[in-house]
Amino acid sequence: AKEAGKNQYQFFDEETDRLLVRKLELERDLRKALINEELVIYYQPKWDAESNCVSGMEALMRWHHPQLGTIMPIEFIPIAEETGLIVAMTRWMIREVCKQNAEWQLHNLVHVCVSVNMSVRVFESGELTEMVVEALKAFAIKPGDLELEITESIAMYDLKDTIQQLRKLKELGVRVSMDDFGTGYSSLGSLDELPIDALKIDQNFIRQSGLPSKQAIISTIITIANLLNLEVIAEGVETEEQIGFLKSRGCRVMQGYYYGKPMDAKAVEAWLLHAAN
Ligand code: C2E
Ligand code: CA
Ligand code: CA
Ligand code: CA
Repeated sequence: AKEAGKNQYQFFDEETDRLLVRKLELERDLRKALINEELVIYYQPKWDAESNCVSGMEALMRWHHPQLGTIMPIEFIPIAEETGLIVAMTRWMIREVCKQNAEWQLHNLVHVCVSVNMSVRVFESGELTEMVVEALKAFAIKPGDLELEITESIAMYDLKDTIQQLRKLKELGVRVSMDDFGTGYSSLGSLDELPIDALKIDQNFIRQSGLPSKQAIISTIITIANLLNLEVIAEGVETEEQIGFLKSRGCRVMQGYYYGKPMDAKAVEAWLLHAAN
């Protein structure tokens, strides 16, 4: 028994070592990923279930590592945040999204608002407004065609400063939404002070929307959104049951695998041509 215990320890040690080595590797390689054009943007449609049309898209980052293959944001975004690389990556992301959106509009493929996810670090950097202004100008994009998805943790980090930065962005005409709504803490008290346009109901609630307790939470979020004059969008929608429930509670915009997974630009173009029919 003692022998087995020792082996187990060894196993865990090796596993911990392997993960640490991978993390160090990713940290080292992420510095080059931007320059080497290994970062790729995927787009996930947002669907208006009432008028049955695409009402927006969310840009989600992927890392096509030359040796390790596709790496998902859950693994590299935390590293990007720790190292501060997220600021340069987000600058790139906002630019690319505006460029892509301009191209889609030019070719009459689609004309919707595309959203980009924000990190605390980006707000901390104080460069966000400048990034946005620069990208909008470079590609002649209407401010209303760009949306920033913030989280409760950003608002909580420095509420006063966040409000100030968001005000500037709102003055420009850029859209702002609150992502993963309902998962953070203590933000409810300041929700009415944040200059935002929409609430995104966190996908964990949608996944469990068969449960009466989660249904109560979802309904409450929709009520809050209505009272504060905010749009509401459900994310992680996968089934017809979920759609039926959400519609019955007055939520009309949905996002999730049921409608479309995140796709690269080419795939989303094909999806759009198909969705229009
Ligand atoms: P998020 O912003 O909450 O994005 C939604 C995540 O749920 C995405 O995962 C998306 O692929 C996934 N998803 C969408 N619909 C469904 C569904 O129906 N079922 C399930 N099971 N999942 C669904 P992804 O792309 O892996 O991104 C994970 C998180 O990484 C994002 O969560 C966001 O917080 C972060 N992230 C992604 N791209 C960026 C970025 O460019 N910048 C920053 N700061 N964060 C990013
Ligand atoms: Ca998001
Ligand atoms: Ca989310
Ligand atoms: Ca999230």
